[in-house]
Amino acid sequence: MSDWEIYAIKYADRNARTRRDSFLFDDNHDAPHAMDYFMWLLRRGDEVILVDTGYDDTEAASRGRPIRLDPRAALEPLGVVPQEITQVIVTHLHYDHAGGLHLFPNATLHMQAAEMAYATGPCMCHDTLRMPFTAGHVCEAVRRLYAGQVVFHDGDAEVAEGVTVHRIGGHSRGLQGVRVRTGCGWIVLASDAAHFYENIFARKPFPIVVDLQDMLDGFDTLLRLASRPELIVPGHDPLVRDRFPRGVADHIIRLDPGPLGAFAR
Ligand SMILES: [Zn+2]
Ligand SMILES: [Zn+2]
Repeated sequence: MSDWEIYAIKYADRNARTRRDSFLFDDNHDAPHAMDYFMWLLRRGDEVILVDTGYDDTEAASRGRPIRLDPRAALEPLGVVPQEITQVIVTHLHYDHAGGLHLFPNATLHMQAAEMAYATGPCMCHDTLRMPFTAGHVCEAVRRLYAGQVVFHDGDAEVAEGVTVHRIGGHSRGLQGVRVRTGCGWIVLASDAAHFYENIFARKPFPIVVDLQDMLDGFDTLLRLASRPELIVPGHDPLVRDRFPRGVADHIIRLDPGPLGAFAR
């Protein structure tokens, strides 16, 4: 079978942040640290798989975190019609990944069973753990379940030939990374298993964490899954746009040709 194309679609950024928001145990905690927000699209001929769904204007307003593009508009340059999306891999149910589920009503959702259990279980009694979730997004996942549109995975699983998911946990109980076979090897979309290159390569955990050991173990899992370390794609790092500079549109880059040149990790 042939290889997949991968597109990273940036739909938002948030720059009024500091390193304190990105790294536990960082000495330089007051320095600014910007963050990008992505969704990803996998394509091979007629096959299309969306990885995560961004969030919409309603969610942006309620959190005071504006978006640059509605997820549907963000996908337009790729010729994607939201109603025609039939497969969505939900890396986890945090608002910035599951906030657009309702925009893709005909999709079957691929999720880890552990994520649904976590997002609907006793841990959500804690404000701190509940903070990155929004009830409406979790309810949308439950509605899909009752409509027969959820496939649960437990650990490692194949979603399509050349596309596998892997539970990593740590940041959320049922977070899954996505491994995709491309012309340059196995690329791993880390999603929030590593927000930034620095999380994984400097071993600095991200502060939103439910299990620190799982998060640290997850960095090893990402390294094991990718053909080369530079083929790990962090979920929120603006540097991804520098390292994979093949622009398809102002806010879309293509990942499957691989990073340009060597870069210091
Ligand atoms: Zn997250
Ligand atoms: Zn995120």
